[in-house]
Amino acid sequence: MDIDDLTDFIIQKIDKLGIDYRPYNYDNQIAWVDCFLKIGGYNPDTATPFNHAHEYIHAYYNDDTRMCEYDKHSPMEKRANKESIILLWDLFTASGGNDNDVTLFCDLTGCPYNDTFSVLKKTNHCDNFDSLVDCARDYVTYFDVIVPNTINVYNFLDCYGLPYTDYQKARDTLNQVCGFELAV
Ligand SMILES: [Zn+2]
Repeated sequence: MDIDDLTDFIIQKIDKLGIDYRPYNYDNQIAWVDCFLKIGGYNPDTATPFNHAHEYIHAYYNDDTRMCEYDKHSPMEKRANKESIILLWDLFTASGGNDNDVTLFCDLTGCPYNDTFSVLKKTNHCDNFDSLVDCARDYVTYFDVIVPNTINVYNFLDCYGLPYTDYQKARDTLNQVCGFELAV
């Protein structure tokens, strides 16, 4: 995946959430979405895959971006940065990117190096699949009896500090570990 592929992929994800997201130079902003009005725009000359992914995460959670625009330390801003890095990292490694090459990843995506390094380290995301299975195996041991409606995937993600964007992957893993399809 090159920069254009990444950009197109993320823009499509934003469109699929029902946001009318288009190239537009608005008040010198690089990229923005308004989840309330369901519109957004980006400067096609300056916006990076990271900028698009950041806006995608806001749209995904329906963040009130009018509030957090002025507060770079708000939980919504932190989450948008963290989860956009994880989303792009998964795309990068899934398409053959070397999981030791954080510098190349940052050059390609525009992700800030220090944030990327600390996010990947904290989430141990380089071997995410294995650790997700480990988390699922650990999680099911806390229940005496497990039936298809015992487990809530969002609770599971919260317990292990995993992003909600991992919902489907986590659900599949839990199905596999439990040996049946979860009901909720
Ligand atoms: Zn933001």
